[in-house]
Amino acid sequence: MRAFVQIDLDAIEHNIKQIKSQTSAAILAVVKADAYGHGLVPVAVRAIDSGATWLGTALLEEAIALREAGIKVPIIAWLTPPHDDFESALSLNIDLSVSSIQLFEEILDQARRSGIRPRLHFEVDSGMRRGGVLKGWETFVEFAVEHKDEYNLIGFWSHFARADEPSSEFNLMQENEFDRKLESLKVAGLTPEMVHLSNSAAILSNSSAHRSIVRLGIAMYGLSPDVKNMGDASLFNLRPAMTIRAQIHLIKDAKAGDAVGYGGAEVLTHDTKLGIIVMGYSDGLPRSTSNAAGVFFDGRKAPLVGRISMDQCVVDLGNNSLAEAGDYVTVMGGEGYSIDDWAAAAQTINYEIVTRIASRVPRIY
Ligand SMILES: *Cc1c(COP(=O)(O)O)cnc(C)c1O
Repeated sequence: MRAFVQIDLDAIEHNIKQIKSQTSAAILAVVKADAYGHGLVPVAVRAIDSGATWLGTALLEEAIALREAGIKVPIIAWLTPPHDDFESALSLNIDLSVSSIQLFEEILDQARRSGIRPRLHFEVDSGMRRGGVLKGWETFVEFAVEHKDEYNLIGFWSHFARADEPSSEFNLMQENEFDRKLESLKVAGLTPEMVHLSNSAAILSNSSAHRSIVRLGIAMYGLSPDVKNMGDASLFNLRPAMTIRAQIHLIKDAKAGDAVGYGGAEVLTHDTKLGIIVMGYSDGLPRSTSNAAGVFFDGRKAPLVGRISMDQCVVDLGNNSLAEAGDYVTVMGGEGYSIDDWAAAAQTINYEIVTRIASRVPRIY
């Protein structure tokens, strides 16, 4: 196997238990985007075994895949465009989120055809200006009251825009807006069974926002929601679950002055052994990564040299390296360059690094 992603499910379990010990809210494990690249079903199963009582996905097809794998716990899919497969959602008992009357009507139409009462969560836009009802909340509530015998109101929810800036007043503003809208729903006679607002950043920094259930994403995978503002995951006693390893295809001696890779983008300043690693941008390594990232072999960091190619990249193993072709190096995680190091080197966030590791790289548990 030329490259693989190693997933430590015990780390997922540790992280969930760690979060559980800090909140009285129930845990909804967010497993969208193939469980942040960690593998949908294995992560979902371990999350449930570790105390999560709900699962959440963005797409309906992700939720359907969980049901097809035999998972029975409540699941919500919150990002369903019009004409999505609501028939399957209803028959598979998948909760849906509504943030417009249009979508609400479409789901109720399908419910009449299927003879199954939908389980709905109302999403309100409390400030992020992404999902959720914003203008016309009163009309939305009137519609919801008018049709109240046609669905079960399970949840009321919203999402923070700046939870990873714990000191921002915007968070309190959003919480207040959330509470006002929740109150108006209750005044209209609609009481949701559960209320949810917190992502990982809010779980770790703002206990007033925990409410009945929290939507736990990045922290479950052992990564910090924002290294700059909140610090490294180890500060929260979280353990990264992902390690990536890849083989060395070839080793060669190169000289100072040699220009390496496409465009000769980097010129060696010293003689060294180069390692050609069988992993590239088509596998999800970000092409725009500086040599602040690289691989780890035999107790030593080997920084990237030149540009990352589609299927391979070149690292500086050092003159005295004992590496041989066929050896495995650690690309991310473990003692070497962390996922956060790669994110910083590519000027992005750890979320993007893990979710973009390609499906052609096998996941090993
Ligand atoms: C992705 C997502 C989460 C989880 O966010 P993290 O920052 O990874 O914890 C929670 N809620 C919604 C609506 C999301 O889309």
